[in-house]
Amino acid sequence: MCYAGVTRARPARAAGGRGGVALQDLDLVCGRLHDAGLRLTGPRRRLVAVFAGLGHWCTPAELYAAARAAGVPAGRATVYRLLEVLVEQGLCRVFAQRDRSVRYVFCGPGHHHHMICEDCGRVTEIAECAVEPPPAGFAVREHAVDFFGQCDRCQAAKT
Ligand SMILES: [Zn+2]
Ligand SMILES: [Zn+2]
Ligand SMILES: [Zn+2]
Repeated sequence: MCYAGVTRARPARAAGGRGGVALQDLDLVCGRLHDAGLRLTGPRRRLVAVFAGLGHWCTPAELYAAARAAGVPAGRATVYRLLEVLVEQGLCRVFAQRDRSVRYVFCGPGHHHHMICEDCGRVTEIAECAVEPPPAGFAVREHAVDFFGQCDRCQAAKT
């Protein structure tokens, strides 16, 4: 029951494909955090739900603000610690920005790629993997492919 309080979190953006994460995925994520030794207090669980439901990338400060807006009493230290453990567990991707800020994307379990809108920050997961394996002789452990650009909504807003 890691998604306790999820109803008070900002709901995942409805339009434009999947935003947010299925509840069973959230359970899985919380299980992994628990196994990693993170004590999952109520606020922490709700913070995971807020992050997972965000549907766009965020700085730690933005996640903190989103948590506050959702009524989750999580301090800045809790936000940083959670992001740290999520990254360690491969449940969060980190993108360094040219302005030296760092943006985080919640990453549910299961292989997928991302489309990230650089205008509004919306993140859409792509479940289908069409990546060709490299030439023989290289033992691949993993690959990551992310597309950066402008989402359909931002394109429509500009025309
Ligand atoms: Zn992801
Ligand atoms: Zn956009
Ligand atoms: Zn792939």
